[in-house]
Amino acid sequence: MNRYEIETQAEAFENANPRDILAWASERFGDKLAIVTSFQVTGIVTLHMLQGIAPRTPVLTLDTGLLFPETQDLIARLDQQFDLDLRRVKPRQTPKQQARDYGDRLWERNPDRCCHIRKTIPLRDALAGFAAWVTGLRRDQSAGRAATPILSRDRHSGAIKIAPFANWSAERIWQYIRDQNLPYNPLHDMGYPSIGCWTCTKSITDARDSRSGRWADHAKTECGIHVAPAIEVARG
Ligand code: SF4
Repeated sequence: MNRYEIETQAEAFENANPRDILAWASERFGDKLAIVTSFQVTGIVTLHMLQGIAPRTPVLTLDTGLLFPETQDLIARLDQQFDLDLRRVKPRQTPKQQARDYGDRLWERNPDRCCHIRKTIPLRDALAGFAAWVTGLRRDQSAGRAATPILSRDRHSGAIKIAPFANWSAERIWQYIRDQNLPYNPLHDMGYPSIGCWTCTKSITDARDSRSGRWADHAKTECGIHVAPAIEVARG
């Protein structure tokens, strides 16, 4: 898709039901479509909707080696419940190997580098061969996500990035979770609206920003996956 097609389609999707956007994505990209999720609530709604569309769409999840046990349990439970084509994306280095090469607790000293090693590069590599991927980004999650387009070109992987729930609110997502009686991470009920690595996630400090518990001791607000790299990746 060229830039004009992406922007036109994104505009057409502004008021579309996410289910219709997912159906379009599945039809358009077939086995070149992937779901990328950290198994937070929007991702769970995505996986549930996909059950009626294309249930064996590959599901990529970043397993940094530093996930909460609650997150690991939830992934295993949903993998079994939905019979997912689950692909755990791991960094080249274990946390121990990273500590050997970069020093202990890199996430405290240089979280950008740590996320680059453990998230951005592994996901970029895992997306090779996929033409499009679905993300659970929503505009209400933080100021930095307020302008999230429903369709865009991911400048890390070069693939089309689809955010079907960009204009859904947290309330609407939670209503869906309750209506469908879907499992979710128990940490959400303990003051963690956004959950990443245990090393960098705290209960929230600002109720207006659901991601304020992420890298709370740093100015950092994004891991890098959803931020454009300094140099745009060439695309075909
Ligand atoms: S969230 Fe923290 S521990 Fe996880 S990859 Fe990023 S900096 Fe490292």
